Amino acid sequence: MNIILLGPPGSGKGTQARSITEARGLVQLSTGDMLRAAKDAGTEVGLRAKDIMAKGKLVSDDIVNEIVAERIDAPDVRKGFILDGYPRTLGQAIALKTMLADRRRKLDAVIELRVEDDEELVRRVSGRYTCAKCGEGYHDTSKQPRKAGVCDKCGGTEFKRRADDSAEAMKTRLLAYYKETSPLIGYYTAMGNLFQVDGLADIKVIEKRIADVLAKLA
Ligand code: AMP
Repeated sequence: MNIILLGPPGSGKGTQARSITEARGLVQLSTGDMLRAAKDAGTEVGLRAKDIMAKGKLVSDDIVNEIVAERIDAPDVRKGFILDGYPRTLGQAIALKTMLADRRRKLDAVIELRVEDDEELVRRVSGRYTCAKCGEGYHDTSKQPRKAGVCDKCGGTEFKRRADDSAEAMKTRLLAYYKETSPLIGYYTAMGNLFQVDGLADIKVIEKRIADVLAKLA
């Protein structure tokens, strides 16, 4: 099964992608994670993307199309993938269509996490941080570790925040979403595989709604 999670920054794509991978054994493909890994490793792609990402702008279609094309050929992705943060432009959506057709693979569903409340998105993003060791996600107000400064999951004591989760970069990221990414809602509706889920609902409720959508497709 091959799925896209679509939604603005802070809509919960990463959180939901992780829970679907656990439930269904699919691989989460986050272009944001891939680009951050490239940046940390100091590769050429990482160096080219670094400043663009810090400002909250979009990296060029060519770069992201190439990293996705490479990744979906890996053996662990054979069972299926959940794309989180890709495609983000019409150009990327068209490139993905060709990529899948060339590999005789199909797209099963596009799940849009709908959050029409920019203030809530900014609140979510500006308070979030992760355990530096295992990646478990936390939030300053809505999800703190049970013991202050200690990760619930792995006991790690170091945490990190994304540079582009600042209020300033978030403005640019939201603009990029409305201008470049939101036209994909119409595109995938026309293709007949868009499913909308209320991204303001409780995390467990969203998980259940997505599971219901996927169960009907299986
Ligand atoms: P994310 O982790 O999905 O929020 O992505 C973080 C940043 O990486 C974005 O703000 C962009 O700068 C870049 N990025 C991630 N995915 C894409 C994409 N599909 N197209 C262009 N830029 C991307």
